[in-house]
Amino acid sequence: MRKWKLQYTVYPVVLTGVLYVSAVYAQNNLPVERSLSHYKKEIKEAPYLEMVELKSREPSIVYDFKYATRNNFMGRYMYPAGTRITFLRKPAADSLIKIQRELNKEGLGLKVFDAYRPYSVTRHFWELVKDERYVANPAKGSHHNRGTAIDLTIIDLNTGDELNMGTGFDNFSDTAHHGFKQLTEPILQNREKLKNIMAKYGFAALSTEWWHYTYQSPIKFPVLDITFKKLANR
Ligand SMILES: [Zn+2]
Repeated sequence: MRKWKLQYTVYPVVLTGVLYVSAVYAQNNLPVERSLSHYKKEIKEAPYLEMVELKSREPSIVYDFKYATRNNFMGRYMYPAGTRITFLRKPAADSLIKIQRELNKEGLGLKVFDAYRPYSVTRHFWELVKDERYVANPAKGSHHNRGTAIDLTIIDLNTGDELNMGTGFDNFSDTAHHGFKQLTEPILQNREKLKNIMAKYGFAALSTEWWHYTYQSPIKFPVLDITFKKLANR
């Protein structure tokens, strides 16, 4: 009787442990959170880890998800066609909404190209572009995978046009670098405007991509590989 009890109480615990480790850890010992139920448990204990769906929180932001089309550097759908939502961790989402409100007072607004990016997509990017200036090394994971990075620009609310930033999104050339100054004065001012307002609310620029910003936080947000659909329907 005692033996029976031991078998049926200890084995499930061991099995759960093994499943947990394989669900959370990818290669190179980078912890990757793949389990929706584990994520749900986490945000119950630490609500600041919540992945906030941006469109429902701030419908006035314009979204243009290049990776849900073929119009991106990969030339293929990296997110399911028709993806219309994205996520940021709660503190980053709260800051982004403040930026939108401040820009709105000047007749301007944000257009978002990408924010949270499931870890498996970063692995696909790396297969094509093994250059850490532009694509995160999957061994480390990216801030997009952690829900703390965003790719975006500013638009004129009257026309809907993007401010001229000198290059388009995902232009992997020197011209997209913040240090590249052989551009017209209005372009340099537009980049500066985006950089300043993002910095004001806690987002740091990346030297090689004028559109990419990372929310600065002492919190170590885990890398996620959970689909948009699962996060939205949780
Ligand atoms: Zn980015």
